[in-house]
Amino acid sequence: MNSQVIKVGMLGGTFDPIHHGHLRSALEVREALGLDRLHMIPAPQPPLRGVPQVSAEQRLALLKTGIGATPGLYADCRELRRAGPSYSIDTLAELRAEYGEQARLVMIIGFDAFLRLPQWHRAGDLLSLAHLVVMARPGYQAPWPEELNELVGSFEVEGANSLMQRPSGGVLMLTLPSMMAISATYIRERLSEGKSVRYLLPEAVEEAIQEKGFYQHFSQHDE
Ligand code: ATP
Repeated sequence: MNSQVIKVGMLGGTFDPIHHGHLRSALEVREALGLDRLHMIPAPQPPLRGVPQVSAEQRLALLKTGIGATPGLYADCRELRRAGPSYSIDTLAELRAEYGEQARLVMIIGFDAFLRLPQWHRAGDLLSLAHLVVMARPGYQAPWPEELNELVGSFEVEGANSLMQRPSGGVLMLTLPSMMAISATYIRERLSEGKSVRYLLPEAVEEAIQEKGFYQHFSQHDE
């Protein structure tokens, strides 16, 4: 492979709020794949869940605080500029147009999100724009449902090197060294109960949350 070819990752999410599970995974997946840049992209209106209580702008601000000066990680506000539901296919199309046909473009998702992939908007077209890398996540282990197998089963490759031979079209299952059983739901629950969230997320993010009084009232709609 031409070493000049740029390798770009996209990790979308609600980031409600950003936590160490996201950040450590982003750092390790960037290392494992040798990505030049990893765009972390908050969704204002995630298609498959309720409306978050904390606004997209506020979640983006927390994401920026969480990333700080970490090399290679980039808080990307592009979905906030688009009206309507945040579809990954549109975001990937934008990134592909920006980075060009030869760029290695990788969509990164956790195993829980992967299990819902067949419900995604234009799921069958995602691999024509990007590779898919699925991170193992503690608490989520399941055999692939049949429809997932039909959708992506034949595109699975063994390692990052084979993935990076082509601009898009491969699927890689990845177990990162520091898997963390942290979820934003757990953090919101604890905050609403007035309990400590120390060490689940960066201290600067915790301080910003306390200062603004976010997540004091957790509701099931927010899941
Ligand atoms: P919630 O609990 O509100 O559903 P979450 O913690 O799962 O939130 P999201 O913003 O929904 O966070 O996640 C964005 C992406 O990061 C998803 O693909 C998700 O699978 C992945 N992810 C989230 N937490 C972890 C973790 N601890 N380890 C690995 N992947 C994670």
